[in-house]
Amino acid sequence: MKNIRNFCIIAHIDHGKSTLADRLLDYTGTVTEREKQNQLLDNMDLERERGITIKSHAIQMDYVYEGENYILNLIDTPGHVDFSYEVSRSIAACEGALLIVDAAQSIQAQTISNLYLALENDLEIIPVLNKVDLPSANPEEVTDDIVDLLGCNPEDVIHASGKTGFGVDSILKAIIEKIPAPTGNPDAPLKALIFDSVYNSYRGIETYFRVIDGSIKKNQQIKFMATGKQYGADEVGTLKLNQVVKNEIKTGDVGYLITGIKAAKEVKVGDTITDFANPTTDRIEGFEDVKPMVFAGIYPVDTEDYEELRASMEKLQLNDASLVFQPESSAALGFGFRCGFLGMLHMEIIQERLEREFDMTVITTVPNVSYHAFTKKDPDEVIIVNNPSDLPDPSRLDRVEEPFIKASIITKADFVGQVMSLCIEKRGQIVNQTYLTPERVELIFDMPLAEIVFDFYDRLKTVSKGYASFDYHPIGMKQSKLVRVDMLLNGQIVDALSALLHDSNAYSIGKRICEKLKELIPRQQFDIPIQAAIGAKIIARETVKALRKDVTAKCYGGDISRKRKLLEKQKKGKKRMRQVGNVEIPQQAFMAVLKLN
Ligand code: GDP
Ligand code: MG
Repeated sequence: MKNIRNFCIIAHIDHGKSTLADRLLDYTGTVTEREKQNQLLDNMDLERERGITIKSHAIQMDYVYEGENYILNLIDTPGHVDFSYEVSRSIAACEGALLIVDAAQSIQAQTISNLYLALENDLEIIPVLNKVDLPSANPEEVTDDIVDLLGCNPEDVIHASGKTGFGVDSILKAIIEKIPAPTGNPDAPLKALIFDSVYNSYRGIETYFRVIDGSIKKNQQIKFMATGKQYGADEVGTLKLNQVVKNEIKTGDVGYLITGIKAAKEVKVGDTITDFANPTTDRIEGFEDVKPMVFAGIYPVDTEDYEELRASMEKLQLNDASLVFQPESSAALGFGFRCGFLGMLHMEIIQERLEREFDMTVITTVPNVSYHAFTKKDPDEVIIVNNPSDLPDPSRLDRVEEPFIKASIITKADFVGQVMSLCIEKRGQIVNQTYLTPERVELIFDMPLAEIVFDFYDRLKTVSKGYASFDYHPIGMKQSKLVRVDMLLNGQIVDALSALLHDSNAYSIGKRICEKLKELIPRQQFDIPIQAAIGAKIIARETVKALRKDVTAKCYGGDISRKRKLLEKQKKGKKRMRQVGNVEIPQQAFMAVLKLN
């Protein structure tokens, strides 16, 4: 146990965590020449394509230092705000953290927020100044920034490059010398923390755990404390590049467990695993339940696929404990699920994973944040509005509250003006402005969550030419003037197109949605009026003009293969389309409200 070190790598996005993890794996000989590839731990296709880390990944390295054998368990973490839940879980399984700071970019918003998470969990922090090979690196200045942030000495900051491998030996030395070995009682009853789980269709659920006390042995009868259910430990092992089967995983170590559990709900991240016959009396304090920030409906394109979609979401939820969903129905789309996500990126990724990993074709509806509504009849009772259709009729409505956040934006002094105008346009109120250095400014704003989850991040990047980073945390609900804007196609309300909007921009957005829908809805044999309404009041109108000619008419009499091709093409185009009444609506239309610029 004294030769185990458990650590994670935390940083702002793109500061080089995954690349540095690659170098640690090379240097310790954990991967062979043949297995090497960039960002090796980002093993999901999606992660590789987008170049970002979505899931935390655990891997064990063996390392000989001053003649002694050490076991180093590394957990790579994602940097994007949407995934900070993953970071908090990884942190709980570690005693130390490498805090990576890009030598050209210096400290950014998530550097700070992830550092705080690590400090709250009493982790030993090892500061690493990364990318020192870059010509634009600014090692002296950035070291000063790190020293200011951590209150450490400049000598504590390790200079490194994930690209060249420079500094990797010093990092390993610091991991061994500075990060405390795990503590815990090997003779006490088993107590292990579940920090992640993955669904494997052949082997059932794989649970990743960190042993706090005692040990977990093959074939041991164990209990998950949240449910009280008993299982046999069919297989235990350590996480190398591939899983390595072991007979026992001891106090302080990290490993995986297979119990044959198939049902997603039985494994809860943050739960305690203990011995069935001789359970521990003190359960590990679980993680806070995740709070979704954005809600949207997900519906199968084919209504018959509803049950299959439910099964797929249950499996996905096991791999991503931050996804929540419950059944709902829509007059336009039939049966589906209202899902909660950590943010827009998370929502996109869930949709993509459903399609790639589970072969589902789905429609996602206009996302919204979660509001609180109160009726005149019962002004103290909260009605939670996660779906526009849950908002009580304006005549019954007493008031609505919306979630607010505190946003921290770090930018260059040159862009302060533009960033401020953007935040004010988004109904933000400035709380504080601090010059971190003469060139770098931190702005703190109170803002409605609804304004920042949608296109804020992209706009911020544009106005700051990329020199702004952003982090936020919720600060509670505030009263707000909110209305539901309904969309009517051919005189019929399409509930899945309704959006909850602030009164100040409902008219202009309603008008723009009409214009956007006009572009997106395919022309048909008849005129299709598009209207936006608040209650019974129409606030905007457009028309999709009828087609002049019938396209299929061309085929008749033409050669048969051309006709078949055209039908094929139409069939493909139908994917991600929904027939509502007699109007065909493509998927993009459901997201039109988000893509108005
Ligand atoms: P993460 O988001 O923190 O995991 O960052 P990645 O490891 O995915 O790296 C982000 C980008 O920075 C990639 O394009 C890497 O190739 C690049 N990068 C990472 N480390 C270094 C480094 O030490 N030097 C240079 N020049 N580029 C690096
Ligand atoms: Mg990464």
